[in-house]
Amino acid sequence: MDYISTRGKIAPVGFIDGVLMGLADDGGLLVPKQIPQLSEATLNAWQQLSYPELALELFSLYVDGEIPREELKQLVDESYGTFRDDEVTPVRRVNNGLHILELFHGPTFAFKDIALQFLGNLYAYISKKHNSTIHILGATSGDTGASAIEGVRGKEGIRICILHPHGKVSKVQELQMTTVDDANVLNLSVDGNFDDCQRIIKELFADVNFKQQYHLRAINSINIARILAQTVYYFYAYFQLAKQGQGEKVNFSVPTGNFGDIFAGYMAKRMGLPINKLILATNENNILERFVTEGVYQPGEFRGTHSPSMDIQVASNFERYLYYLNGEDAGIVSGLMDDFKRDGRIVIAGEALRQVQADFAAYGVQNDECLSEISSCYKEYGYLLDPHTACGVAAAHRFTAEDEVTVALSTAHPAKFDEAIRILDIKQTAPAQIQALSDKPQFQTRVTGTNEAVSEQLVRFF
Ligand SMILES: *Cc1c(COP(=O)(O)O)cnc(C)c1O
Repeated sequence: MDYISTRGKIAPVGFIDGVLMGLADDGGLLVPKQIPQLSEATLNAWQQLSYPELALELFSLYVDGEIPREELKQLVDESYGTFRDDEVTPVRRVNNGLHILELFHGPTFAFKDIALQFLGNLYAYISKKHNSTIHILGATSGDTGASAIEGVRGKEGIRICILHPHGKVSKVQELQMTTVDDANVLNLSVDGNFDDCQRIIKELFADVNFKQQYHLRAINSINIARILAQTVYYFYAYFQLAKQGQGEKVNFSVPTGNFGDIFAGYMAKRMGLPINKLILATNENNILERFVTEGVYQPGEFRGTHSPSMDIQVASNFERYLYYLNGEDAGIVSGLMDDFKRDGRIVIAGEALRQVQADFAAYGVQNDECLSEISSCYKEYGYLLDPHTACGVAAAHRFTAEDEVTVALSTAHPAKFDEAIRILDIKQTAPAQIQALSDKPQFQTRVTGTNEAVSEQLVRFF
């Protein structure tokens, strides 16, 4: 299968080259040239598959023979064999209208593991095939870094350096990253905030000589392999409900910041999965909600919330949706992205806005509503939500009609965000793996927030 750019200015590439490219060389995002279409017969047959079997079928469509099926199967089995639940992503019934899709049973207790366990193994596979070392460079506000490090620690042919803002990630997130003592991992604790880390990374990637000399690769959510891996659980969850005769009107409510998770759901729908509504849940950083309700995509002022992994103003995956919204016309997308660069906003109106509103319902959850959702769900059902998941559940309540079922995606284990849970005076016992972290030594190097300081560390490490 060929992958092309949303801006149309690169020659088509295959799956592996697409994964290695990350961001398209013309500044756009990679998308499959054609989205595979699944028949009703295929969907019916797939209902019986286990999570890894289903992942193998879906990945096969996109890998399109570039990795022999047996080897792909091995990659998939290794990636999902690390999950603590036999079902990988189990669906829990809360009440007649609400189910929760638990995506946090991977090594770092957040849903990023689903894509990054696979991407880590895929990078190791590619390194071996190409007989060259892959250097991964990334910035994190917490979850992605922990998950990416866990995905590649100790793997031959891979070195990874993750920048995080010093003192500005949660304690659990910091420990998950810095207690890893494998020699192929470097944690840089940067004086500054997440935006500083992100800017340094962007500028180092933009230095073409540096990028080529060190074979720098990205792990952020614009990588097409991450989106692909995230489509699997939409199918899996839908099938679990369909098997119980509840496949008629199934909505998905998705806590999203970078538009990555919800875009995976949109892809699943375009492949033919009969999803009823896609509900986009955000927090007080509600740029995506404003886009869906008003047609204006414009970053607002940054707000710190109880769901920090969604404290994002510019949604890096959004361009992929713009591409499909505009009839797969790369010229229109390039124009819109130029508008965004020039005016700081994108405006959609008329028929296109009606299409947006047909594709998504959206709701930005305020801080107090997030907390009261955690509290009421705990009281009524004895189910403890993490604050990101609580945003999804609040949006699910708002948009689930009488005859519908909503699957709310649970993107993190509540123990990972105990700061919010403690405000409610709810005491939880952290899983043993999280408790054990505080006894381990930490490995990290503190650096000033400049390109020079970071590249000096990188040159020494790589
Ligand atoms: C990353 C993250 C999200 C948002 O995912 P997107 O890719 O931005 O859609 C939501 N919840 C948690 C816990 C996360 O780590």
